[in-house]
Amino acid sequence: MSEPIIETENLTKRFGALVANDSISISVDRGEIRGVIGPNGSGKTTFFNNLTGFYTPDEGAVRFNGVDITGWEPHRIAREGMARTFQIVSPFRNMTVTENLLAVDAPDSVDNKRERAQEILEFLEIDHIADNDAEGMSGGQQKLLELGRVLMLDPDCILLDEPSAGVNPALEKRILEHIQELNDQGTTFVMVEHDMDVMRTIADTVTVLDQGKIIAEGSFDDVTGNDRVREAYLGR
Ligand code: ADP
Repeated sequence: MSEPIIETENLTKRFGALVANDSISISVDRGEIRGVIGPNGSGKTTFFNNLTGFYTPDEGAVRFNGVDITGWEPHRIAREGMARTFQIVSPFRNMTVTENLLAVDAPDSVDNKRERAQEILEFLEIDHIADNDAEGMSGGQQKLLELGRVLMLDPDCILLDEPSAGVNPALEKRILEHIQELNDQGTTFVMVEHDMDVMRTIADTVTVLDQGKIIAEGSFDDVTGNDRVREAYLGR
């Protein structure tokens, strides 16, 4: 068995008396699409921030590809191969779509940034707007650009924060197809997503958080049939 791509051990983050991530131990296999769900305030965003260096956990450890990356700066973690998108996307608005990709601090594995940018724009089917200002893009196109910026990092693993939120159904379908295709090529995904249809379709394994803790893990059908999960969503 190959080692997990992401492994956390008792990852804990407190805000004063509130324990936003409470001793989270998770193991994500290489090549998975892992879904993370849970009611509002259950700690999903904090978990992403802990994984990607935007927060330093109070306790516990994060290993990525077997390397202990706990406490590393976000940009070093990204260059190591774990990249993320944000729920609220923010392209550089005074730049073109291509310039937004070229602005990424790509690792040495990307030896020709301009070529790579062009490939990514073609893959995402936004090459026709390569020279447009990012300013005028729709919300959905901005999500594609955000994914494109992440792909410039040539990542092994991508953390997606609500890839389908605010995106029209046609574009949502395309985004999901791109995720699936990248996954077929070997990219691991960890995804927070509120749309349960999306989760059912795309996630191999789902981890459920409630009040900062993992309360269930398994296939979509298993976890959504779990009484504790139902209670977490309906009970409060
Ligand atoms: P989710 O993404 O599942 O909605 P969050 O990780 O955003 O949950 O939040 C988990 C808990 O931590 C919530 O109670 C939230 O209010 C709290 N929290 C998140 N970020 C901060 C912060 N920077 N300062 C104080 N409390 C925070």
